[in-house]
Amino acid sequence: MKTGEIITLGDRYLMQNYGRIPLALVKGEGARVWDADGKEYLDFVGGIAVNSLGHCPPAVVKAVNRQVRRLMHCSNLYYIEPQVELAKLLAENSCCSRAFFCNSGAEANEAAIKLARKYARQRYGTGKHEIITAHNSFHGRTLAALAATGQDKYHKGFEPLPAGFKHVPFNDLETLEKAVGPNTCAVMLEPVQGEGGVNVASRPYLEGVAELCRERGLLLIFDEVQCGLGRTGRFLAYQHFGVEPDILTLAKALGGGFPIGAMLAREEVAVFQPGDHASTFGGNPLACAAALAVVKEILHGGVLENTVRTGGYLFNKLGEMAGRYSFIKDVRGLGLLLGMELVVEGKEVVDRCRAKGLLINCVGQNVLRFVPPLNITAGEVDQAIAILDEVMGGIWVKYRLTIL
Ligand SMILES: *Cc1c(COP(=O)(O)O)cnc(C)c1O
Repeated sequence: MKTGEIITLGDRYLMQNYGRIPLALVKGEGARVWDADGKEYLDFVGGIAVNSLGHCPPAVVKAVNRQVRRLMHCSNLYYIEPQVELAKLLAENSCCSRAFFCNSGAEANEAAIKLARKYARQRYGTGKHEIITAHNSFHGRTLAALAATGQDKYHKGFEPLPAGFKHVPFNDLETLEKAVGPNTCAVMLEPVQGEGGVNVASRPYLEGVAELCRERGLLLIFDEVQCGLGRTGRFLAYQHFGVEPDILTLAKALGGGFPIGAMLAREEVAVFQPGDHASTFGGNPLACAAALAVVKEILHGGVLENTVRTGGYLFNKLGEMAGRYSFIKDVRGLGLLLGMELVVEGKEVVDRCRAKGLLINCVGQNVLRFVPPLNITAGEVDQAIAILDEVMGGIWVKYRLTIL
């Protein structure tokens, strides 16, 4: 099918819940994708921080190929070999020691919310069920994950949402401290907020939050669905901050494009018992084989080193650009999770970049987000920067006319 035909069918038959861009991708390799008409793009969206090893990474293709012929699915009624291997690998490389597998970020957070409530009930009795989260957070679209999400625009029209969530400003320890009450059982944060505009937590803030949680008997939950698994240049984002969560959620990059999520917990907190929680597909053999290949590659394939080096390179290039165009307000982020805040809307930049063969996206109205594969080369960054610079030059001409 050509692009036009795919779009026509999509507009006719799909639920219209996405503001879709008129583009249909049919092939990918490394940091490049091709649309149905054969046009090539450099992909700095990467499935929104999913394709961390690029498109169709050979190690993952090989692992999935092998597993698909052996056993695609079996129930969690039974032990699953790649699942126990994946759980072990994640335990050995994080502060948590037990894993529950699911299929998405929202599900991982639902599991985290349930586990926090169960732990608090078991330990302190009823009533202690409230979870505090941050403004501009994003935790997913299922009802409890949505209630946890600290952005009203996602709540509108779906009330009543599950009770038991309170939102406070991000990077503001004092307000968080005041929000803790007798019913609070946990604090849930993204060390780097993704959908909320690429906002990095400060080290003193997270240290303070961890200390507060210790003092008040609260669980600390980190949602690393977007910022985890090498994206920031460390295997897990919390490793930048010298603090450790009690519960950690992962998804996006975990399967290298194959759907899988995980909720990890410290031993003492891992209080789920048979019947407490489950997922039919969660941690199935195929998904775990993919994830196992991904995690090994991130840990041992030079991915973290490249993320630090090339992320720093991209950050500097974006910073230089900000020095040249006054409508660029800020450049921020960690590793290869970078944002560029504009004083104008980002949509036109995104559209113009796409026309020139570069895919980026915009979070909120005005923060361009750059989340390319973690194995991207400096040469590919140069290509992306050349396109972006050309586009920014065009936007600059328009912007000057509007402020004159
Ligand atoms: C994307 C995202 C989610 C939701 O993940 P889904 O797989 O879409 O359910 C949750 N938390 C964060 C931080 C995310 O970026």
